[in-house]
Amino acid sequence: MVQPLIFRKGLDLKDAVKGDLARDYHSDVVEQIRAADYRYDNGRLTIHLAREFGFCYGVDRAVDYAYQARMRFADQRVYLTGEIIHNPHVNEKLRTAGIRFLSDPGEPSPELGAGDVVIIPAFGVTVHELARLQGLGCTLVDTTCGSVLNVWKNVTRYAREGFTAVIHGKVKHEETQATASQALKTPGGRYLVVLDKVEAEEVCAYIRGTGDRDAFMSRFGKAVSVGFDPDRDLGHIGLANQTTMLMSESLEIAAMLRQAMEDRYGVEALAERYRAFDTICSATQERQDAVIALLDSEAIDLMLVVGGYNSSNTCNLARICADRVPTYHIADVDRIVSADRIRHRPVPPSDQPLAKLPEIETPDWLPRHGAVRVGLTAGASTPNNIIGIVVERLAVHAAETAPAAPPR
Ligand code: SF4
Repeated sequence: MVQPLIFRKGLDLKDAVKGDLARDYHSDVVEQIRAADYRYDNGRLTIHLAREFGFCYGVDRAVDYAYQARMRFADQRVYLTGEIIHNPHVNEKLRTAGIRFLSDPGEPSPELGAGDVVIIPAFGVTVHELARLQGLGCTLVDTTCGSVLNVWKNVTRYAREGFTAVIHGKVKHEETQATASQALKTPGGRYLVVLDKVEAEEVCAYIRGTGDRDAFMSRFGKAVSVGFDPDRDLGHIGLANQTTMLMSESLEIAAMLRQAMEDRYGVEALAERYRAFDTICSATQERQDAVIALLDSEAIDLMLVVGGYNSSNTCNLARICADRVPTYHIADVDRIVSADRIRHRPVPPSDQPLAKLPEIETPDWLPRHGAVRVGLTAGASTPNNIIGIVVERLAVHAAETAPAAPPR
């Protein structure tokens, strides 16, 4: 059988697609704000942009490789396994360029085979899906981010050493599914996904011997490996994260589980029963740190956080902000309807469980009079051109609501 090709380091067309990427995602406005110490002044409006925001290195690379793949395989069918990132504009650009999505109804039509090209997004795919695509003989363009690979390395090692991988993440998120599948490469490998501190507390109770087995399995039945037995599989645990979770929460969950293991088995047994590695990626951490620094250093009236509602890292940026100031998480620039109306997803504070609340509309969100100071950040899947349009729209609406100039 002819081995399929796998491209993992680009397709030697970086310079050739540079112009297209700049045309589709660059923003002069954002570059001007960067050059002005991340500050934008226009009349009564001041915008403070977080010093790290928007596209991360993993997304930059994935989108770059997708453009290169389209160019290199111009005469072949080119697919993505699903959304390349959680941003409709970027996905739409790729569709317009002729890249198809295996996650779309009716795809692939006809079946995939040798001659087809499949791009694997930055969050990776499960072990099973990778083997399937390879088995079909597809050419693969693998953009799995190095930071995700680092998590996989830890989970694989946990499984080899007989530890259950406890993954702080969202069980339906593509990255967490791919990460969890790494445990299954080893016979007997196991995983458990916990969403937040509330779920972690239930796992801690079980470890301490105060949990109920049926209740545990009813809560976590869809978040564990097949055949998971909490009585057997919580005896040796290793912690990992989806790379885009809230750093502070991941650390708290790790500490909670460590304490539960200590309570159950004693401190001397920890070294042989508990492992933890920080697997939040540096880009996520830098964006979270930057927004905290912004809130610490500037008097902000409100925060705007731009990015998909299904974008984990964006939701966590919004949670950090909502603890401190009125925060509007908007999926896109069109959610800023007018100076009086904004559509946004409410954000629970970081000490409350994650919740997928429906989008709401809030009136009178932009102060009508006097100076207004807006903090701005965006998740790792939001391109700069969208951030630039948000800035321009804010400037227009702030001018609309400004009081008339006093008569001379
Ligand atoms: S958020 Fe982090 S892990 Fe995910 S693609 Fe970006 S850099 Fe990579």
